Amino acid sequence: MSKIRFFEQVNRNFDDAAAYTKHPTGLLEQIKICNSVYHITFPLKRDDGTIQTVEAWRAEHSHHKLPVKGGIRYAASVNEDEVMALAALMTYKCAIVDVPFGGAKGGIKIAKWQYSDSELERLTRRYAFELVRKNFIGPGIDVPAPDYGTGAREMSWIADTYNAMTDHSLEAFACVTGKPVSQGGVRGRTEATGQGVFFGIREACENALDMKTLGMGVGIAGKRFVIQGLGNVGYYAAKFIQEGGGILVALAEYEGAIYNPKGLDLDKVVAHRKERESILNYPGATNIENSAEALELDCDILVPAALENQITKENAPRIKARMIAEAANGPVTADAAKMLLDAGKMIIPDMYLNAGGVTVSYFEWLKNLSHVRFGRMNKRFEENSQQRLITAVEQMTGKSLPADIMKKVVTGADELDLVNSGLEETMCEAYQNIREIRARHNNEISLRTAAFIDAINKVAVTYMELGIFP
Ligand code: NAD
Repeated sequence: MSKIRFFEQVNRNFDDAAAYTKHPTGLLEQIKICNSVYHITFPLKRDDGTIQTVEAWRAEHSHHKLPVKGGIRYAASVNEDEVMALAALMTYKCAIVDVPFGGAKGGIKIAKWQYSDSELERLTRRYAFELVRKNFIGPGIDVPAPDYGTGAREMSWIADTYNAMTDHSLEAFACVTGKPVSQGGVRGRTEATGQGVFFGIREACENALDMKTLGMGVGIAGKRFVIQGLGNVGYYAAKFIQEGGGILVALAEYEGAIYNPKGLDLDKVVAHRKERESILNYPGATNIENSAEALELDCDILVPAALENQITKENAPRIKARMIAEAANGPVTADAAKMLLDAGKMIIPDMYLNAGGVTVSYFEWLKNLSHVRFGRMNKRFEENSQQRLITAVEQMTGKSLPADIMKKVVTGADELDLVNSGLEETMCEAYQNIREIRARHNNEISLRTAAFIDAINKVAVTYMELGIFP
């Protein structure tokens, strides 16, 4: 199989959508190109005393809005083409969910499991040091976040390094998002991407016309789904879809997949994997040794939540799911997408579906700049107002509300409530927006093309209002 260039895939999708817009060619070219790429190599002293050279990148795709924003990935497969593609997707993603950032992405080319915690800390801090030195990080410049292979711990190291190297400004902790709550993180960020994936799928399943076209009933309840990748995004997507009534029939990890048409209990599978270091041999489930075959199982919704280029023109004809929900970035190649759409399937595109992470990162960034926890100022006020209203009704009617009901009714929103509410609103509104664009084109374009049209138009307006393209 010839090597699939990820950035080229993203740009093919861009070009398909650009054809439906009327923007000047030069402006479209400016939106599409990657503005700057910083390629670094630095030495890492391993625990055994040997020195290893490590390769890393940070790509800033579009500066039409600042800061630029995007995750940092640790994987052996990281390369320049990949970070540029992922940075571009970030630009479009932020535009789709109206988060006021440009797009960026970073990556370190390492097989993470081969490194000790102290080696990972040294290389993360060194990477952050290099970004500071070249002005590729800062609350108003470029704000990284977690991605494949990284999490709150790495973000905390980056924030600390940035803080130590700069002038201890009040905004320093807004230089990175996805931090632990104790380090300025926001509640709900860890699960945000998976939760957003759930909101997006739920919204799609509520559209009666689309469900009829796919030959499925309305609503997420009862739908059989398969998840590829049991990491941050895959785990939380599976958790929320299961809580919403979906039936998890298969799970695929790199060591293999397990299948049970009656359903798998997610948390029991996670406990089993922790104990046995493999999801295989889970009681009651069938083992699938070749993990990729799980993508081809009979189900309603397939959720690839691992890496890009998982569904190609080679396996696309064997995909049975009627809805493919791109929780990962770029899991379906452009050729494969065309084949799936021609076969009457629906693809919920990555740049919309996994935007929950950047949405809640935006909330975290706002929290860091304002230095106050969401809900702190108004929670008690809301509760008191509700209490006063109920007391007035009780006095007028002469009836009083039972204490247990009163407790449920009188509740002010805390940080997690507000973050989840903001996330749900963002994901639902953005879906309806994309769906409407598709409807305006007589439903003849894909949701991806509709999402790209939306993103291109929004970025184009910013450039025009900046006066660069009058
Ligand atoms: P993660 O490192 O937490 O988890 C990824 C999981 O996928 C790992 O458990 C890994 O073992 C598994 N995996 C890798 N290759 C596989 C394969 N071929 N088959 C089955 N399983 C495989 O990463 P993540 O943060 O969950 O990211 C997953 C995807 O979601 C990536 O494409 C990432 O860019 C995207 N994404 C992540 C976020 C976020 O907030 N973390 C936000 C938006 C998009």
